[in-house]
Amino acid sequence: MSNSTRTQRSAENRPSAADDPEVADFLIVGAGPVGLVTAILLGRTGKRVTVVERWPARYPLPRACTIDHEALRILQSAGVMGSHADLFEPSRGERGGYQIRNGDGELLRAINWNRPSESGWANTNGFYQPDLEEALESMALALPTVELRRGWSAVGLEQDDETVTLTVASTDDRTQTTALRGRWLVGADGANSVIRDLVGIATADSGFEADWLVVDYRPLDDRPWGAFVTQYCDPAQPATAVNSGPGRRRFEFMRPTDVSADVMAQPETAWCLMEPWGVTPETARLERHAVYTFRARWATEWRRRRVLLAGDSAHLMPPFLGQGLCSGLRDASALAWRLSMIESGLADAAVLDSYGAERGAHVTEIIDEAVAIGQMVCEQDPQKAADRDARLVSDLHDPDAAVVEPPHPRLGRSPFVDPNDPSSGHLSVQGQVAVDGTIGLYDDVVGGGWQLTGIDVDPLVGVPRETAAWFASIGGTSVTVSAAGALRDVEGAYRAWFDARDCSVVLARPDFYVVGTGEPRDVARLLEGLRNALGAERSRPRQLIEEGATP
Ligand SMILES: Cc1cc2nc3c(=O)[nH]c(=O)nc-3n(C[C@H](O)[C@H](O)[C@H](O)COP(=O)(O)OP(=O)(O)OC[C@H]3O[C@@H](n4cnc5c(N)ncnc54)[C@H](O)[C@@H]3O)c2cc1C
Repeated sequence: MSNSTRTQRSAENRPSAADDPEVADFLIVGAGPVGLVTAILLGRTGKRVTVVERWPARYPLPRACTIDHEALRILQSAGVMGSHADLFEPSRGERGGYQIRNGDGELLRAINWNRPSESGWANTNGFYQPDLEEALESMALALPTVELRRGWSAVGLEQDDETVTLTVASTDDRTQTTALRGRWLVGADGANSVIRDLVGIATADSGFEADWLVVDYRPLDDRPWGAFVTQYCDPAQPATAVNSGPGRRRFEFMRPTDVSADVMAQPETAWCLMEPWGVTPETARLERHAVYTFRARWATEWRRRRVLLAGDSAHLMPPFLGQGLCSGLRDASALAWRLSMIESGLADAAVLDSYGAERGAHVTEIIDEAVAIGQMVCEQDPQKAADRDARLVSDLHDPDAAVVEPPHPRLGRSPFVDPNDPSSGHLSVQGQVAVDGTIGLYDDVVGGGWQLTGIDVDPLVGVPRETAAWFASIGGTSVTVSAAGALRDVEGAYRAWFDARDCSVVLARPDFYVVGTGEPRDVARLLEGLRNALGAERSRPRQLIEEGATP
């Protein structure tokens, strides 16, 4: 590490601006789902958060309509699932799953979404984005630590070693400006991010581009729906059908080259395209229709000093895998534990370098997969489409080629990912547990945060007292799960997860990714490795940890 980097990092940890009531701990630009979840996760730690949103009212229309199990576990950690689980319709049973069909409706590929997920929630779930955003906003506003300033647009930004100063202009009257100060700033301001431009972060583009009409409607009858998501790979008219949450459905249609975007956006076009599926003004109510240009683009950096990007400002992908918002919520979760630990003196600001390294590699792998599916679905050449169909049909009968789940990439290289442990950097497990007659998901019953879990073993046996005290001081929990003990593995999810990895202990992060696995004899090494990666020693003397002092 260079001297100048060292100087910058120690200055980042200086507490002076932290004591200034005029300086928020965190400024967040953008009250979309990613900005709001980041605000809730940070606000729940007691930190002061100011969210700036350019529009005076919430955006009333959906973009995302499916969400995966990991994203629901993140929403669970933000307190959303306790009160709003009914917003989500799980993909289960005979209508579960993702199918790819050809122009004649024949099955080309089936992805089984009905297997249990690692996260304790259904693999994929339909939902209505405006309802989720309403819930998130009311939860954020209920926190005494979170302030939301609607009707203000970020227009300028300066930063020094301790703070970021954000200039915002009234959206109604751009001549009216004011300055806000914060210790850190998260740019969650969407695909055309002003924050990204203001700090000079460039984007890379895959070159994928396709216009699609998105039609949301409410069925007026209760006819059976096919798979949860179906891609119709018809070269004459590529289309997607999605179960988009309780009581709602979505169709998406690619714009043919000889049809203008204006014609595509007409309601008559939407009705005409849905008619072959029997969706007509007599059987459905149109909620909205709009033409989107699907692209694949990502930020080349995720951090400039005290400014970080999250959500669509950092990555954009075609929605064929339903992973754009899910990826943004991963950003929120990955940022929240880092930022709150830094501001509590439990981690060095250098841990933010691992944010972009981990998230960048993870999301670009998902973008590549979304583009690959997009290219397959968008094929308009009849001969190439026929070749594709033949290839997929032969894969369909080959069990080794059958795809069973959406992609689960590994986090990119970082001090928190052990390249020699194949589980490290992948998702940990959450299942139902029972304690004292209460049954619930592990994070609700035991608690989120840093989790040390042993199956049939006490993970802390043999760990030096001081190391165990340090782990407790960062909010770590340590428990034993077993088939019949005090914390019961109700459905065997833990037994199956540990057996598949041939280990008895796992150390997992607050964003649910595995730090490391092993046996009880490995735990002291895992915890000391974590302590080193957090750089906590630079911020907190050992005797304070031993005395159990909180920062
Ligand atoms: C058709 C379609 C289907 C999709 N389907 C799925 C799906 O099924 N599953 C999935 O996971 N994802 C899906 N996505 C992607 C998903 O919708 C986005 O990834 C997600 O909404 C991004 O959230 P965000 O909070 O990052 O950005 P946004 O929702 O864009 O929010 C950014 C906010 O920042 C505000 N803002 C912008 N500039 C400023 C400024 N200068 N000052 C202040 N505020 C500002 C904006 O007004 C906005 O409120 C889909 C996208 C599309 C278009």
